[in-house]
Amino acid sequence: MKTGFTPRQLEVPAASSSEAELRRCVRCGFCNATCPTYVLLGDERDSPRGRIYLIKDMLENERAPTAEMVTHIDRCLSCLACVSTCPSGVNYMRLIDHARAYIEDNYKRPWLDRLCRRVLGAVLPHPARMRLAMSFGRLARPLVGLFRAAPLKPVAAMIALTPPRTEPRRDWQAVYPPQGAMRGRVALLQGCAEPVLRPEIRAATLRLLNRMGLEVVFARDEVCCGALVHHMGDEAGAIAAARRNVEAWTRERQIAGLDAIIVTASGCGTSLKSYGHLLRNDPLAEAAAEISNLAADISEVVARFGLPPVTQPQALTVAYQCACSLQHGQKIKDGPAGLLAAAGFAVRTPAEAHLCCGSAGTYNILQPGIATQLRDRKLANLARLSPDIIASGNIGCLTQLGQATSTPLVHTVQLLDWATGGPNPLTERTIQ
Ligand code: SF4
Ligand code: SF4
Repeated sequence: MKTGFTPRQLEVPAASSSEAELRRCVRCGFCNATCPTYVLLGDERDSPRGRIYLIKDMLENERAPTAEMVTHIDRCLSCLACVSTCPSGVNYMRLIDHARAYIEDNYKRPWLDRLCRRVLGAVLPHPARMRLAMSFGRLARPLVGLFRAAPLKPVAAMIALTPPRTEPRRDWQAVYPPQGAMRGRVALLQGCAEPVLRPEIRAATLRLLNRMGLEVVFARDEVCCGALVHHMGDEAGAIAAARRNVEAWTRERQIAGLDAIIVTASGCGTSLKSYGHLLRNDPLAEAAAEISNLAADISEVVARFGLPPVTQPQALTVAYQCACSLQHGQKIKDGPAGLLAAAGFAVRTPAEAHLCCGSAGTYNILQPGIATQLRDRKLANLARLSPDIIASGNIGCLTQLGQATSTPLVHTVQLLDWATGGPNPLTERTIQ
């Protein structure tokens, strides 16, 4: 695609990075076919190619974003199905992140939208605040009907996503020693939503990694990975979070080295793997690139070090829902399903596996209508497999799908832990 950025504009690193991506696009439109919002809405402006045009026009002409432009950009899930499809290798994530930051700097959203985003950005990355907010959400459940009117729908979505009970706060050790001879030392990302909503996932991860002979540490002073605020256009907030984490893990590496920084919420994994790019112009650029290279999804580390012997095989059918942030964001597609099969489960994958379930960070709160349609479509495809269990590698998918199915939903790592000696995750609390 021909671009017309001026030399002055290209002096700004974000603009020169976006220009490089725009030039890669040949406008073929292959990406439209796999874009969930285009599949649902059929509007070119809700497709990757249409959004790329909007972004180009907005950035190149330094145009003030209009409400219409913002609507179509906001409807993007950042699922990155378009990136998987694109034959030209356009890194759409960089374009949409730049566009969102530009909108936040140059557009005044309606006050309720601003308030909602501010509350989400202030609460979700902080486990203690999130725990408190969930208590309020539960109290507000009987009043959810009052928030069904259009401008208040995000409030209703937030209340609907509140689980029926809050897990008690657990105290975690700083270090979890390996069983038997030590084969490596890894840090585990502490995360924000996952340990509040499903601490069992962390417990299963620790057991499995220790069983594999890995020492697991939690780095001091680590914070939220920054993905939640980044997807809402707060680039400065995302950079600040990335800097703190790079410093925290660099200190941890200096203590006794790290073989990996493990992530069990795949949305956060995509974020960590992008730190090198996010901080490319920062004094911490080199350290950030090293941290990005160390970041690994739990499934990658299990594959690298080997699944422990299967001591408790289960004759169960598992429908595997591959999170967008794994298959499109990190290009990890068949690995987790392969591990589940190696652990003895009968693994099935649904039709339209490339389509997002509608979770997408805060998307199911900010765009509840589209998110609900995508959720129901995903659940219908999963139900056709008649599974005993649905597994996914991302807390967002588990929470989103768990709103509307009675099939037990668990994290992939819980099944791997179970098969290799851990407790039955189905008799512990599942997401419903
Ligand atoms: S598939 Fe790639 S090259 Fe083709 S329109 Fe989409 S982004 Fe552009
Ligand atoms: S990130 Fe997902 S929703 Fe956004 S344009 Fe790409 S395919 Fe469509």
